[in-house]
Amino acid sequence: MSDPWRRLLAAGQAQAGVELRGLTTYKLGGPAAYFVEANDPSTLAATAEALADSPLPVLILGRGSNLVIADDGFPGVVIRLGRRFAGIETGEVVTAGGAAGLPQVARTATAAARRGVEFMIGIPGTVGGGVRQNAGCFGSEMVDVLETADLFDLGRGETSTVGAGDLAMAYRQTNLAPTQIVLEARFRTDAGDPDEGAARIREITRWRRLHQPGGTLNAGSVFKNPPGDSAGRIIDSLGLKGTAVGGASVSEKHANFFVAMPGTKASEVYLLVAKVRETVKARTGIDLEPEIQFAGRFADRGE
Ligand SMILES: Cc1cc2nc3c(=O)[nH]c(=O)nc-3n(C[C@H](O)[C@H](O)[C@H](O)COP(=O)(O)OP(=O)(O)OC[C@H]3O[C@@H](n4cnc5c(N)ncnc54)[C@H](O)[C@@H]3O)c2cc1C
Repeated sequence: MSDPWRRLLAAGQAQAGVELRGLTTYKLGGPAAYFVEANDPSTLAATAEALADSPLPVLILGRGSNLVIADDGFPGVVIRLGRRFAGIETGEVVTAGGAAGLPQVARTATAAARRGVEFMIGIPGTVGGGVRQNAGCFGSEMVDVLETADLFDLGRGETSTVGAGDLAMAYRQTNLAPTQIVLEARFRTDAGDPDEGAARIREITRWRRLHQPGGTLNAGSVFKNPPGDSAGRIIDSLGLKGTAVGGASVSEKHANFFVAMPGTKASEVYLLVAKVRETVKARTGIDLEPEIQFAGRFADRGE
C-alpha cells in the first residue's frame, strides 16, 4: 500500500468522507476527503509525513464557529485536535490546549481567582481558532493576554514555541500559515475576585443575548469592522436587514450576523456575503473584508 493516505486510513489515524456539517456552527457543507482527529503527537507527525509524500489542501478545524464549508466538502485533509489537547491549567499563567473552548477558559480561570480572560466567554470557538483569528470582544482580544503558544507545523513536521510578538497579531488576523496548528497557549492573568469575575461574565453574556441572534445558525460577525466604523451599522443603514439568498439572510437583530435556516446551502451563504459586500461597495465605496472563512470550492472562487 504505497499511498500514504491509505496507510493512515488502514492504521486508523484518518477517516475518509467524514461529514463536517455537524462540526460547524452553521451546520452546513459537505464531507472532508480525509479527516484526522489528533489525540497524540504521533498522529500529527504521521499526517505531516503523509502530506510530505502526497500533498493535499489542509484545513485545521476548531469548533467551526468562523467557517463556511463548501457544499461539496473539503477536497483535502481536515485536522481537528481531540480531547487530549483540551486541558486547562490555572496559575498566574493560564495554560490551555488548542482544543479547549474559550468559554471554558474564561469560566475555569475566573473560578480559580484569575482575572483578564473573562472576555473569552463570548467567543464560542477554541483556543487554537481564537489565537489564529486574534479573536476578541468587549474591548479585549487574544493579543492582550497571550504570552506564548506551542505550534505544530504540518509542513515541517516540527513543534516550536513562539511568543505573541512573533505572530504579527492585528485585528482578527495573525501570520499563522494554514499548516500551523496551535497545540497549546499560555495567557497572562492577574489575581482576581471570583465573584467579580462571575459578574463580568454574566454582564457579557447578557449583552450578547440582547444584541446577537442567539439560538440561530451563524458563524459570528461576517465582516470585519472597517477603521472607525462598524460593519453592522453600515449594513443596517442601507436597509439590508432581512436580505436573503435561499435560506440565508441578514439577521434582523444584528446586521453583521447572517443566519441560516436548517437545510441552507453553503453556496447561499456565500452568495449572500457577496451580494451584501457588493451593495455596500456600490452605495458607500467601502469594501468590507469578510471575517468568516470559506473552505472548499465556491462558484467563482475556486478552492
Ligand atoms: C455566535 C457567535 C459569536 C461570535 N462572537 C465572536 C466575537 O465576539 N469575537 C470574535 O473574535 N469571534 C467571534 N465569533 C467567531 C469565532 O467564534 C471565532 O473566530 C473563534 O476564534 C473561532 O474558533 P474556532 O475554534 O471555532 O475556529 P474555526 O471556525 O474552526 O476555524 C477558524 C480558523 O482558525 C483555524 N484554526 C482552528 N483551530 C486551530 C488550531 N488549533 N490551530 C490553528 N488554527 C486553527 C482554522 O483553520 C480557521 O482558519 C463568533 C462566532 C459565533 C458563532
